[in-house]
This record gives sequence, C-alpha cells and structure tokens, in this order.
Amino acid sequence: MMSKRVAVIGAGPSGLAQLRAFQSAAEKGEDIPEVVCFEKQSNWGGLWNYTWRTGLDENGEPVHCSMYRYLWSNGPKEGLEFADYSFEEHFGKQIASYPPRAVLFDYIEGRVIKADVRKWIRFNSPVRWVDYDAETGKFTVTVHDHDKDSSYSEEFDYVICASGHFSTPNVPYYEGFDNFNGRIVHAHDFRDAREFTGKDVLVVGASYSAEDIGSQCWKYGAKSITSCYRSAPMGFAWPENWEEKPALQKLDGKTAYFADGTTKDVDAIILCTGYKHFFSFLPDDLRLKTANRLASADLYKGVVYVHNPAMFYLGMQDQWFTFNMFDAQAWWVRDAIMGKIALPNDKDAMLADVAEREAREEASDDVKYAIKYQAEYVKELVAETDYPSFDIDGACQAFFEWKAHKAEDIMAFRNNSYKSVITGTMAPVHHTPWKDALDDSMEVYLQN
Ligand SMILES: Cc1cc2nc3c(=O)[nH]c(=O)nc-3n(C[C@H](O)[C@H](O)[C@H](O)COP(=O)(O)OP(=O)(O)OC[C@H]3O[C@@H](n4cnc5c(N)ncnc54)[C@H](O)[C@@H]3O)c2cc1C
Repeated sequence: MMSKRVAVIGAGPSGLAQLRAFQSAAEKGEDIPEVVCFEKQSNWGGLWNYTWRTGLDENGEPVHCSMYRYLWSNGPKEGLEFADYSFEEHFGKQIASYPPRAVLFDYIEGRVIKADVRKWIRFNSPVRWVDYDAETGKFTVTVHDHDKDSSYSEEFDYVICASGHFSTPNVPYYEGFDNFNGRIVHAHDFRDAREFTGKDVLVVGASYSAEDIGSQCWKYGAKSITSCYRSAPMGFAWPENWEEKPALQKLDGKTAYFADGTTKDVDAIILCTGYKHFFSFLPDDLRLKTANRLASADLYKGVVYVHNPAMFYLGMQDQWFTFNMFDAQAWWVRDAIMGKIALPNDKDAMLADVAEREAREEASDDVKYAIKYQAEYVKELVAETDYPSFDIDGACQAFFEWKAHKAEDIMAFRNNSYKSVITGTMAPVHHTPWKDALDDSMEVYLQN
C-alpha cells in the first residue's frame, strides 16, 4: 500500500463513489493509498439514509437528512445509473424509472456492499476540524468518536470533502411569522405529508423542493396548496386546488399577503427556500465558498480546491447529473491523488479553468443548455479516467423527455419510463400511477 493517507469526509453517494473508485483500482492490482472515511451518521447513504428525526440526532449532531417519507426520485433513474453497476445487476431485472427513496438507497448500498468498502468507514464520527500545515504538507483531521465519546486527531496527505450541500437550511424571516398559529417548517425538517391532510398549505419557493413537497401534500390530501415565487413561477398546469402567487410579503394572523395584493388564509407554511454550502469543520483557508451553481467557485475541474490542491471537494455543484457525476469526479480525484493525472503547477492556470467554466455556464440560462453543459463536464472527466464510458448523450435525452413529461402533466410525469444507457433495456411502466401509489415501500414498488 502507498504510504499516503487520504481522508474522505462523508459516506453519502459522493463519498461512497470515492471509496468505490479507490477499491476498483486496488482490484486491478494498483497500489492505493490508505483511505479513511469519516461519517457522522450511524449508517451510509447520506441524504438517502432516512430518519424520522429533525433538529438534532441521537448524538446531538445536526440531523443531516433532508429527505421525507414518500419521496420518489425527482428525475429518471436512467440519468443517474452507475456505469459499473446497473439497476438490472442489482435488482436482477429492469425496474420502473422513478424509484422511491428506499429503492434507491438499496441500489446505492448494493454497489458498496459488493465492493466491500464498509471497513474503510468510521461511523458516528463527525469531523470537527481540519488544519493544514504548509511546512509538513500534512492535514490534521480532528474527529469526535461518538461510540467511545472521545476526540482524536490524525494526519493525512489529502482531504476529500464529500459532506453534501443540501442539509443546512436557508431560513428567511417574514413579518408575522412570530404570531402565526400554525406550523412553520423548512423543507429540511419536512417528513410526512400526511401531517398536512385537510390543511391549506403555503409553500414558499419555486424550485424542486417546492414542486415536490407541494405535490406530496397534494397527493396525501391537503385541502389546498398555494406556492409563491420571487423571480418566476414554476408554471406547471397545477391541479385545481393549487395556486401560484408572486412573492410573500407578510403574514397577519393566518392571512398571507402576496406581492400582487392578493391574500390567502393558510394553516401551515413550508419554507422551500434552499440550502447553504456550510462547512463548520473547515478553516477559512480550506473552506469552499460558492453559490449553488454548475461551475462551483474555486474548484479546478470542479473538484480541486485551487487554494490548496491537496484538498478536494465532490458533489458541490448544482445537480442535473448526480450519482454518475459523483463517480466521474471520484475516479478523477483518485487518479490525481495517485499521480496518474497531473495538476497544473500554478494557481493562475487553475483559476483560468474555473473562469472558463463560469463564463460557459453564464452564456445561457436555457435549461437544455444547462443539462448539456453538465453532461459535457461528466464526459470530460470520464474521458480522463478508466470509469466505464457510457452514453452520456443518451442520459441527456432521458432528462429532455423528463422535462417534456413534466410540462405535459406534473402529477403524472413519474408514470413514464425510459431506456437504460448502461444496459440498453427499456424500463417497465410502473404498475400504479404515482398519484395513487400511497404505499411506496420497496416490496410494493418492485412487484411486477
Ligand atoms: C430532498 C432532496 C431530494 C433529492 N432527490 C434526488 C433525486 O431524486 N435524485 C437524485 O439523483 N438526487 C436527488 N437529490 C440530490 C442529492 O444531493 C444527491 O442525490 C446526493 O445525496 C448527494 O450526495 P453527497 O454524497 O454529495 O451528499 P449527501 O447525500 O448530503 O451526503 C453527505 C454525507 O456527509 C456526511 N457528513 C456531513 N458533515 C460531516 C462531518 N462533519 N463529518 C462526517 N460526515 C459528515 C453526512 O452525514 C452525509 O452522510 C435530492 C436532494 C434532496 C435534498
């Protein structure tokens, strides 16, 4: 084994991709560094590791999970399939295109069980702090081991931060919130749509969370949904008890006031107002500061921290592509660490790469352009590693069809199916339309 040590922070899909990347090199007989993954939760899977808890977890750590019961994939699984581990390999058959959370968790887990990398992970182990010593060129990672209730520090040559960026909620304040008598909850703490059955629900926001959480509440019997936007409406053909309004101005009792002068009496407010990139365990000189965008600030090739190229970040971009993009990044980072890919010697060259990516992203705000942009990024990284190449344009096609299906019927898009770009097989149509599928357990989902 190489004498170098690599710390991976987080065992969500990105961190697990990193472990699988190193293991796949070891499998081919290559000399890999020692890899230690620190995970603050008691299990792997990141956001896909569901918990009913909100606020603080059993160890007093902020709950990481932002997912909820009844969550189904919000994009087709054909856009995220692992190139080295197909859905058919995992489930022994092709499955429908929008799996519920439990099914995707099972799939994520299947690959890393097969790769036998659990032994590299220290669970219940939040990273508290990371320091870099320019003289020794080493990182000191300080961790709290909740099982032993003790803190310790270890040295590493490289740090890969894969801690996710959809867990620290961005929570705005509106006049009247203090006196509102119903529940005000951020999407991060939303768990069960049945809580809102029979209620008039206000959803603040116009992005994925607003669309999906509003849809969940509608599906499980909310009396009405009112969603409001700051810049543009979501613009779907909503069911008759769903109304879109411009920005929320204030609350007075249970009455919500909107920018167009209209009002609506509501029982509950769900803030789908986004998340912050938040790294409480990183000092200023190592901490990424970026907006949620496709070309993250300060990351050469989207992964190397330009201010310290021994520090890497995975999955920090806004995401059309997810699991397969994390894989492409993880394989690339592995090869940079193992010396198979050379990094530019000077910081200016890395900054120029970032600037070029930013300019290209900013050249258009068309959605198809954005999907293709990220597809090109995935292609670029895959081409520079031995990650199995796959039909990335085909995956784009699935995304384009998905967009069209949403425009056709927002409450029925999940009834469609697409062709796998890994195995070439068409997914079956799911046995029950999404709006009627109230039991979304894995057992029921996988029934033929
Ligand atoms: C509500 C919601 C729905 C989504 N739905 C989809 C979907 O349908 N399809 C899709 O492809 N993507 C979806 N996503 C996108 C999601 O970002 C990715 O699927 C994926 O989970 C990102 O993986 P990650 O490993 O980068 O981050 P995460 O999944 O967030 O994992 C990060 C891990 O790091 C750990 N960690 C954090 N801080 C520390 C620390 N200090 N020390 C140790 N460990 C730490 C966390 O406990 C966690 O396990 C959704 C996201 C949200 C919020």
